[in-house]
Amino acid sequence: MNKQQKLQNLNIKWTEECKCELKKTATQAVYGVGNAEAEIVFIGEAPGKSEDIKGEPFVGSAGKFLNEMLGLINFKRKDIYITNIVKYRPPNNRDPLPEEKSSCREWLLEELKIISPKLIIFLGRHAMNNFFPDQKISEAHGKLLIKKFNGISTKFFFPLYHPAAALYDGSMREILIEDFKKIPKILKEIEKREKM
Ligand code: URA
Repeated sequence: MNKQQKLQNLNIKWTEECKCELKKTATQAVYGVGNAEAEIVFIGEAPGKSEDIKGEPFVGSAGKFLNEMLGLINFKRKDIYITNIVKYRPPNNRDPLPEEKSSCREWLLEELKIISPKLIIFLGRHAMNNFFPDQKISEAHGKLLIKKFNGISTKFFFPLYHPAAALYDGSMREILIEDFKKIPKILKEIEKREKM
């Protein structure tokens, strides 16, 4: 079975088994999408209104901004894989609650285990704090974090500001774009470290 088929089975299993309360109010589950063989997985927070309707992550205004930034480093959506820590839209786009994050955690970990990317990029503090609860996004953004977690093989993580937060904030937007441009160098750095 290839990675794409494994992901399909995983999503079918978790759509039934996930105990997340958000299931009751969301239109549908929003699965991760993209290249199952990708070197990079982006992790966002939770689906918004457009994502809830379409059933696909990052298809609204934050997604369009993300696509523009991918273009800056000559990447397309089909080159990467993108998912969220929570698979169901929180009502009125409120922050996901701790229990909602933990209900979806195993789903995300199994997703990452299948893809086994070289690099995991966190879009915003919620995604980062799901793995690094003590880090502050204002300090950790644009820096490579290295840590081994049980169950997943990826140990390189790169936190960024969330594109929705940076979209209408000029200075945060500039920082996010500059951090984003570091991604190709970060991938080279990882290759170098893996050979050591
Ligand atoms: N913001 C997120 O964090 N995820 C999405 O899928 C869309 C917007």
